[in-house]
Amino acid sequence: MRQTRYFLKTSKTAPSDDVSVNARILEQGGFVQKVLAGVYDFLPLGLRVLSKIENIVREEMNAINAAEMFMPVLHPKENWLATGRWTGLDVLFKVKSQHGSEYALGPTHEEIVTPAAQSIISSYKDLPLAVYQIQTKFRDEPRAKSGLLRGREFRMKDLYSFHADAADLENYYNGQVMPAYEKIYQRLGLDALLTEASGGTFSKYSHEYQVEIESGEDTIYVCSKCRLAKNKEIFEAGAECTNCGKTEWRETRASEVGNIFKLQDKYSSAFNLQYTAADGTKKTVLMGCYGLGTSRVMGVLAEKFHDDKGMLWPENVAPFRVHLLALKGGEAAAEQLYQDLLKAGIEVLYDDRDASPGVKFADADLIGLPYRAVVSGKTVESGSIEVKKRSEAEARLVSADKFFDYINKNQN
Ligand code: ATP
Ligand code: MG
Repeated sequence: MRQTRYFLKTSKTAPSDDVSVNARILEQGGFVQKVLAGVYDFLPLGLRVLSKIENIVREEMNAINAAEMFMPVLHPKENWLATGRWTGLDVLFKVKSQHGSEYALGPTHEEIVTPAAQSIISSYKDLPLAVYQIQTKFRDEPRAKSGLLRGREFRMKDLYSFHADAADLENYYNGQVMPAYEKIYQRLGLDALLTEASGGTFSKYSHEYQVEIESGEDTIYVCSKCRLAKNKEIFEAGAECTNCGKTEWRETRASEVGNIFKLQDKYSSAFNLQYTAADGTKKTVLMGCYGLGTSRVMGVLAEKFHDDKGMLWPENVAPFRVHLLALKGGEAAAEQLYQDLLKAGIEVLYDDRDASPGVKFADADLIGLPYRAVVSGKTVESGSIEVKKRSEAEARLVSADKFFDYINKNQN
């Protein structure tokens, strides 16, 4: 992508009205733009990051036999009345139509997916099933001052599973979803701590995935031996770790990047979602739900992977792999290298602007692509390209024929 033709403008000055680190860096780097508190434009550069995050999530969901679907944002009021959440969920956005009807803007989708399953599931032979979507969610959050960490409009992957009995639900939850979540966070470059949290009405615990960051809104306690964590809301000082029995805990701040629940029959009962068992009796379907906040993940990545100059994107989610900078005397060679990179299928942002080296270097640091490649009169003379990893202090000269090997190294 040529920077002269890209819908991108970085900024030297921090936004005045948002104190959160992720909002500052992502706005200055030209990834997002604030529209109102808790609502952001994902500009082309930021959308590439979000899409990469969501594609990793999508791949791991597909790998556990979940099928992707897409549900609406506008929900009938009756569905929310049926579960008691029209009045029971304080963050529910309600919309009144000019024709008199009322709707909810989806903060989560149990109220839609459960009735949808009624026409799909009738016999024990139809079970188990799992569907997910990656969607924009709406919540009327009282405090939306943490950039992408807490949006009023935000992105979430939500997976729902349907089972004939508790053992099957348990199997899917522990044996499929938990390992899939581990893989997702690992691929995203995040160390997410499995955290016991309150389970709601029907199970002892739900499990959160928490990433330690200073600006995290949750307080968690991490077992000093096995790293199982507990959310503060259920924590008792001196409690034994459910995993290893130890009683030493470290208190820390973290951000919840995922939350999985065994819903049991909470929503299936509300919508009378039943199946005919092998013995001919009618039984209630059991459900699990599994959320993962993809836009919050992007905020958490920004909180974790930056220095005083800007972002350092992990390779798997970097918007481009290479930032190619054309400096004086290197214009023609840079143009050729840009074409070669495109041909090789390497994602490249090409700074072809008429700007000073200082401006280009500062923007490259701010945007934080894994590799910076500089082509100038000097490098052309020596038949080389100056390459610097964003994570390293020193640049090195790589001969033009070794350049692609160097860039492809560690490619995953
Ligand atoms: P929180 O406790 O942070 O308000 P929650 O427990 O209400 O979140 P869930 O209903 O469990 O959120 O939603 C699933 C996931 O969606 C969360 O783990 C989180 O990653 C993400 N998420 C929830 N609320 C927001 C929000 N306002 N902005 C961005 N992401 C969010
Ligand atoms: Mg939660």
